[in-house]
Amino acid sequence: MGAFPIRARSKFWPKHPLDWGIFIVTLFLIPTIYFYEMFTVYPTVWVFCPNFSKVIPVLGLFIFTNIVANFVGLVVTDTGVPKEVMSCTKLPHSSKWHYCEMCVSYVPIRSWHCKVCKTCILKRDHHCLFGGCCIGHFNARFFVMFLLYLLIGTLYCVVSDTMFLIEKVDLSTPSVVLKIGFPAFAYLSGLETLANECYILLYIINWAALVFVTVMLIYHVRINLKGQVTHDVTVSNLEYDLGKLQNVKEVLGNRWYIAWAFPLISSPLPHNGLEWETSNEWNLRCERDSVKGK
Ligand SMILES: [Zn+2]
Ligand SMILES: [Zn+2]
Repeated sequence: MGAFPIRARSKFWPKHPLDWGIFIVTLFLIPTIYFYEMFTVYPTVWVFCPNFSKVIPVLGLFIFTNIVANFVGLVVTDTGVPKEVMSCTKLPHSSKWHYCEMCVSYVPIRSWHCKVCKTCILKRDHHCLFGGCCIGHFNARFFVMFLLYLLIGTLYCVVSDTMFLIEKVDLSTPSVVLKIGFPAFAYLSGLETLANECYILLYIINWAALVFVTVMLIYHVRINLKGQVTHDVTVSNLEYDLGKLQNVKEVLGNRWYIAWAFPLISSPLPHNGLEWETSNEWNLRCERDSVKGK
């Protein structure tokens, strides 16, 4: 089964006002936090620590690059049902295809319509507010890796920022509740400087991001390892569970062992997104291939 070529979306800007808001905040926060960590926190916390002082800038750049590249990948990769398929008014290829009234076309199995993207998405998982686009067959790799590197990045930020704030802010008095819970009030009432309140605000954002990203990553890794998307979870469908290794390849591609570290490397997907094998069909094919190989 050939891999359908990965295409870039022609219009990749968000289409909904809420998507736009979250998209802009994401674009602003990722570089802001990176530069804050490298140029404000790092010189205070790590630069005098001989074991970490040289490693952290290199690792930091690697993580930041992966966050940005995977974010760009998930936004620009077109995972919609291809235009050449979208004019199917007769049931084609497989009786499993279904009719989408919005698209006025038969669409492949595991494709679902997104009202925001206004099209059917191949192996649709969900509409991502951060990217302003749907996560589906061709960009799931970038989405999962985006979450993974965000988790590593926010975990580092929380550890570093804790040490940084202990150094910078007087956290021993009862006013610490005001400083952390109500940063604007603490600044306006003269309890803390504006710079320190900004540090506290970024600390809170990092904690919130860490909790959110951890929950999201655990959820998506669990369902991806079972060969599911969110729709399959809601109907308890395990029909496409091809085994853990194959399920990993269905998301990260055949070069999964290197694709996790290099977002720009080619890693073709085993299926083209139009046709799918159930676990029974997959097992039968594997058995036939092993008999041929003997
Ligand atoms: Zn549709
Ligand atoms: Zn969508």
